[in-house]
Amino acid sequence: MNAIERLAEKFKAFPGIGPRQAKRFVYFLLAKNSSFLDEFAELLREVKDAVARCQSCCRFFVRTSPEGSRCPTCADLERNTSTLMVVEKEVDFETIERSGAYRGRYFILGGTLPPLEKEPDRRIRARELEALVKARAKEGSLKEIIFALSATVEGDHTRRFLESRLRPLTEPAGVALSTLGRGLSTGLELEYSDAETLKNALANRK
Ligand SMILES: [Zn+2]
Repeated sequence: MNAIERLAEKFKAFPGIGPRQAKRFVYFLLAKNSSFLDEFAELLREVKDAVARCQSCCRFFVRTSPEGSRCPTCADLERNTSTLMVVEKEVDFETIERSGAYRGRYFILGGTLPPLEKEPDRRIRARELEALVKARAKEGSLKEIIFALSATVEGDHTRRFLESRLRPLTEPAGVALSTLGRGLSTGLELEYSDAETLKNALANRK
């Protein structure tokens, strides 16, 4: 493989990018001047060094100090610690934060489970979620876990899978499990929901 093909392969690995788009990205970069390319390469390295994964919610965040292991949202003492919202991905977190509908804590699952997945723990952060719920239930501050997953077959399947995994931890601790109400249209990914829909879905959770 030559350098063009190798770079295209890298872009092809991005979510939602096919071979034609990958090639388009490569030719776009080739048409740019070298200062653009230098800055691009530098940023890739910088983002890797400056960004860490939050030990609590598993979200990527820009570190403000070398020892910070929790993101600003998890470190924010003003936030409600009694609810934990489970979302699929970073952009869902951003959508909900932007809506202003929710002031509790989050957990980023990292994806959803297809119904016949043989190795669920490799697809989503179920073990990390269990560990967090265990720790939070022990502290006694956690009262409710809200599943805010997409209203799709995979989203529903993932929620049921997590409910059965978490129940042995939440039931004895008196932690409720709830799901966003179906103000969210069926088949819709959470990231495309508007603020009003999210507020209603949160108010109508069950
Ligand atoms: Zn966090």
